[in-house]
Amino acid sequence: MSDIFGKIKSGAGKIAREADNAIDSKRIEMQIGSIKNQIDDLYRKLGQLTYDSSVKKELENPEVAGVIAKVTELKQLIASKEEEIKNIKEDKVVSQAPQASQAPVPTKKFCANCGKENEANSKFCVECGAKMG
Ligand SMILES: [Zn+2]
Repeated sequence: MSDIFGKIKSGAGKIAREADNAIDSKRIEMQIGSIKNQIDDLYRKLGQLTYDSSVKKELENPEVAGVIAKVTELKQLIASKEEEIKNIKEDKVVSQAPQASQAPVPTKKFCANCGKENEANSKFCVECGAKMG
């Protein structure tokens, strides 16, 4: 009987994980949408700058390079987010940082009588010979 419950549980876990993944990819898709809007704004700005430069007969508006760099940056951001969605859909297990090793076992203790550092397993203080707890 417990086996059946176990199967139900693991099935529910899979469904929950898939739901989480769907929410995650939806969230990233929305981020991509908002980044695309930003790019559209920058394209409009670029057009405006180009027009102004042309009217003023400037060779190049210094702002243009900055706007182009920003567009390139945002396009790279979209590419990385699309990659993220792809990974989620393939249900890749994101490698987790290895667990921190357990706290080191103390190998030293201090004599209650004289304060000298002794090995944790020593029965008597090496300094004053007092019995170690
Ligand atoms: Zn001691």
